[in-house]
Amino acid sequence: MQSIRNMPNLVNSGDCCGCSACASTCPRTAISMQADDEGFLHPVIDEGKCIECRQCETVCPGLNPAYNNDAVGLTYVVQHKDEAVRYQSTSGGAFTAIAEEIIKRNGVVFGAIMTKEMRVVHDSVETIEELGEFRNSKYVQSEIGDCLIRVRDFLNAGRWVCFSGTPCQINGLIKFLKKDYHKLITVDVVCKSVPSPLVFNKYVEFKKEKEGPISDIVFRDKKRGFLYCTMAHYLSHDDRMSAKDCYRRGSESDEWLRLFLSGMISRRSCINCGYQTLKRVSDITLGDIWETGVRGLDDNKGTTLLSVWTHKGLEIIGNITNEARVVEYPMVRRQERINTNHLDPDRNKVFHDLNHLSAEEFFRKYSPRTIKVRMKEFGRFFVWKLHLHNFIRRIKHFVIHM
Ligand SMILES: Cc1cc2nc3c(=O)[nH]c(=O)nc-3n(C[C@H](O)[C@H](O)[C@H](O)COP(=O)(O)OP(=O)(O)OC[C@H]3O[C@@H](n4cnc5c(N)ncnc54)[C@H](O)[C@@H]3O)c2cc1C
Repeated sequence: MQSIRNMPNLVNSGDCCGCSACASTCPRTAISMQADDEGFLHPVIDEGKCIECRQCETVCPGLNPAYNNDAVGLTYVVQHKDEAVRYQSTSGGAFTAIAEEIIKRNGVVFGAIMTKEMRVVHDSVETIEELGEFRNSKYVQSEIGDCLIRVRDFLNAGRWVCFSGTPCQINGLIKFLKKDYHKLITVDVVCKSVPSPLVFNKYVEFKKEKEGPISDIVFRDKKRGFLYCTMAHYLSHDDRMSAKDCYRRGSESDEWLRLFLSGMISRRSCINCGYQTLKRVSDITLGDIWETGVRGLDDNKGTTLLSVWTHKGLEIIGNITNEARVVEYPMVRRQERINTNHLDPDRNKVFHDLNHLSAEEFFRKYSPRTIKVRMKEFGRFFVWKLHLHNFIRRIKHFVIHM
């Protein structure tokens, strides 16, 4: 007689954030993370290997969401004092300052890197020199791989660990660990949404056809300043500092930034993301701030808006003031709702076309370079060339506060 199976019920695929907590916890490695036809990783259970222990259900943040860090709630504006670090970072380089503090404690830092094959994956480093790999936001969902297991191993060996990522990835780690570790510092980013790695592959293919070889991409390059961040492609990683870029376009005209900001290529779970507010699970949250109003800080080179939610997070921030300028910022000036994602009615059509159109046809359809786009691009470039940014910002400020 055949026995009745009692297989685990993981969260439905539309709410799965792909954090890998279920796959990392399975004692029989019966769960693998596999890409769906939108390019996002989802857990797939090998029924032959599954022993029905259901541990995967208990660690799934989709089935058991948690928001527990509202104890401190202080906010700061932060700028790394090393200008090269700040230039390479998305905003003020606060992440590097925190990571440096962990490495000085003989710790390990985890974050998202871009591989030579242009995949965005999580990895770890143990030296200050290697931290450059993590700098700058990669606007593609990163693969966690075996990082949750490695974090646990380092913590159990008594090492300090800093784990950075999107809020859902942090929640996955916390659920997977099942207990609080004094030496774990979690850092999440304010996250608009995570776009599809499969669409990103198509973008790279399209750009290689149009513009020639690419070996490195910076999603928020500051050659034209923080306020006019551009997507930049480089022929090699070393070209980043010498600024020998082969391609540079802003969010008004670059196909990837336009699709990312439209929300059309986001993971489905981002639409009902529970982290669009100040409810967080991390020790520290990092985001962009365009204008601080703090004398001397608004220099168009980037500032991080940093919120601390726990006492151990506060202790770390107290120790980064040699490396970074840290100025307390009134919490009341921080919006309660820090992000808004929406379900784009075209989303399903986009992913259908992704698998049926060539790269060129796909981007011409969903990110066309129309006359309006070219005019916007020219306008922004003109404003930058004539150094009119500050003048326009002051007029905006005057009109808003009139
Ligand atoms: C997908 C995404 C969307 C974002 N959306 C917003 C937003 O809407 N509003 C806002 O204010 N800020 C947003 N941010 C955060 C912001 O861009 C900066 O990361 C933040 O201000 C920290 O900047 P920094 O200069 O201190 O550090 P940086 O040196 O820029 O540090 C980068 C940090 O981001 C992590 N990271 C980079 N790429 C990824 C990735 N793909 N997945 C997980 N972690 C990653 C790295 O591990 C590192 O911890 C987003 C970041 C990402 C990755």
